[in-house]
Amino acid sequence: MRYISTRGLAPALNFEDVLLAGLASDGGLYVPENLPRFTVEEIASWAGLPYHELAFRVMRPFVAGSITDADFKRILEETYGVFAHKAVAPLTQLGANEWVLELFQGPTLAFKDFALQLLGRLLDHVLSKRGERVVIMGATSGDTGSAAIEGCKACDNVDIFIMHPHNRVSEVQRRQMTTILGDNIHNIAIEGNFDDCQEMVKASFADQGFLKGTRLVAVNSINWARIMAQIVYYFHAALQLGAPHRSVAFSVPTGNFGDIFAGYLARNMGLPINQLIVATNRNDILHRFMSGNSYDKDTLHPSLSPSMDIMVSSNFERLLFDLHGRNGAAVAALLDSFKATGKLSVEDDRWTEARRLFDSLAVDDEATCATIAQVHGETGYLLDPHTAIGVKAARECRRSLALPMVILGTAHPVKFPEAVEKAGVGKAPELPAHLADLFQREERCTVLANDLKAVQDFVSQHGNRGKPL
Ligand SMILES: *Cc1c(COP(=O)(O)O)cnc(C)c1O
Repeated sequence: MRYISTRGLAPALNFEDVLLAGLASDGGLYVPENLPRFTVEEIASWAGLPYHELAFRVMRPFVAGSITDADFKRILEETYGVFAHKAVAPLTQLGANEWVLELFQGPTLAFKDFALQLLGRLLDHVLSKRGERVVIMGATSGDTGSAAIEGCKACDNVDIFIMHPHNRVSEVQRRQMTTILGDNIHNIAIEGNFDDCQEMVKASFADQGFLKGTRLVAVNSINWARIMAQIVYYFHAALQLGAPHRSVAFSVPTGNFGDIFAGYLARNMGLPINQLIVATNRNDILHRFMSGNSYDKDTLHPSLSPSMDIMVSSNFERLLFDLHGRNGAAVAALLDSFKATGKLSVEDDRWTEARRLFDSLAVDDEATCATIAQVHGETGYLLDPHTAIGVKAARECRRSLALPMVILGTAHPVKFPEAVEKAGVGKAPELPAHLADLFQREERCTVLANDLKAVQDFVSQHGNRGKPL
């Protein structure tokens, strides 16, 4: 499989190089040159497969030529073997033809484990084959950091540096990062905010001299391997609900358009998805595009669903590429103008094309808490605030009551106690067994000033299994 850039100028790469690449050299994002397409018979034959075997069949074309079948099978079995539930991604019924797909059974209790558990193992496999080591630098406001650290902790060839804003992440989220101990794991608390952390990551990618030749790898959702891993659970859920002989709809809590873009790809690969609902919080740039063809930058509104607090959606570019007939020059022009003006809209027929599949809703904090309370009252089931946004959007935007509606359950409610408390449903949720002693574990973290040089010096002093590069 070859991968091309959404801006049309960077060279095509194979899977291995895309895994290590991050942004393309022309500023675009990598996408498969040709999407695999499965027949109805093929998809039907996968019914009942264990998660890792389904994952092998769905993702095999994407890694072809870079990873052998035997290696890929072994990696997938290991990856999904660490999930707490035997079904890996179980479905729970909420109402008539309405289901939550529980994507929070992994080590850090959010859906990001699906991609980052795999990414860590793929990186280590490719790097040991090449005899290389890399450094990962990432910024987090919570979920991404812990999932990335958990995914990389066993990697012999990766040193990971995760920056979080000092004293500005929840205690559960901080401890999920800082209690994972290892020579190659480095938590940095920055005396600044999330944007300061992200700016330092960006600046480090732009000028990598401090790394003395060691390659820097990205783990945010622009990394193609993360999107790829997320395609699988759409197949997994739909197969259980009657696909490919019956269509299924999905409602997806989203910020960076990563998770829902994976659903869009599943549909283009042959899975009968009749509707995809973009569910946002008050940071609603995606909703404003889907409902009114206006993708205009707004200020940031902190919310009770912080993992979706964004101003622009990094993966939206991948959809724009398809909407423009995969014309990289057109996408580059559009995004250059967005960078200059903060505004973007597309021609009417392209927007109408998107609307054939996508609907959307923006849900504020008040409605989020009301939905947590409503569902708890109906069923006793406790939603996290991100998933609650998905449920609200599913109930408002649903096109057909006859078809199953699947809401992606992106996090466990224990990660977001504030919203659960505000919803007034009584007792706070408890940590699952594998994290029960989280508050007793030893923490390891370095506090650094909001200063690029201090961070880069720290990385070069510790980037080789804790020793200097
Ligand atoms: C990251 C995250 C999201 C948003 O994911 P996107 O890929 O931006 O769509 C939603 N919910 C939770 C809990 C998350 O951690």
